[in-house]
Amino acid sequence: MQPQSIMAVGGHIGDMDLAAGPLLAQAVLDGGRATLVALTPGERGHPRLGIDEYKTQKIEEGRAFAAAIGAEFHVFDDISDGFLPVTDDVAGRLARLVRTTRPEMVVAHWRHSIHTDHEHASHLAERARFLAGLPGWDPAGGDRHGVAQLLYAENWEDERKFRADTYVPISDEAFEVWHAAIQGQAFARGETYGFRYIDYYAAQLIMRGCLARTRRAVALSTGDGARVAIID
Ligand SMILES: [Zn+2]
Repeated sequence: MQPQSIMAVGGHIGDMDLAAGPLLAQAVLDGGRATLVALTPGERGHPRLGIDEYKTQKIEEGRAFAAAIGAEFHVFDDISDGFLPVTDDVAGRLARLVRTTRPEMVVAHWRHSIHTDHEHASHLAERARFLAGLPGWDPAGGDRHGVAQLLYAENWEDERKFRADTYVPISDEAFEVWHAAIQGQAFARGETYGFRYIDYYAAQLIMRGCLARTRRAVALSTGDGARVAIID
């Protein structure tokens, strides 16, 4: 991949770590920059741990994952899991991060999901992209920045009407970096509700790699389904 700056925006810590983590790891290995943003910690995702205890754990897990793949980490830890609002206050906070980190590509949740937080996060990423590039918006929040591409991540929870049309090959090295880093997240290991996240996403990388005629690939969607592209 050409060196570039990529920001991935998830509803909860762990979402983009799984769906976009290999892509972010690849970007860093190729000389680019990666930023991982969670709009809530995802503290209600454990059936046995208390919310405060799991919130602390999630933030530690998210920070460690980002450090392991070489990404910058941000979490909006004052917004509650399950109650992510679509407001210009939240979109503005994200837009200021866009202006600070200046990504060429933003990776967002697909707009249809079984989680309202994911759907809201999708709208917030689009709104933040708009605000970040808007002349005269929040002059104190940094110089305006136009994000060249907004792409949607492939997440099994956001699959309704998702159609992959963009593939990014993932090297063995990037896969190994991601695979080692994601082991640090309890939910990904299946310790909350038992879903085999790591197996699922590792298999998805292989399946998409077959379609992209490479070993592994991350698939994304432009949302319009009009073309198929491979970014190498
Ligand atoms: Zn989530």
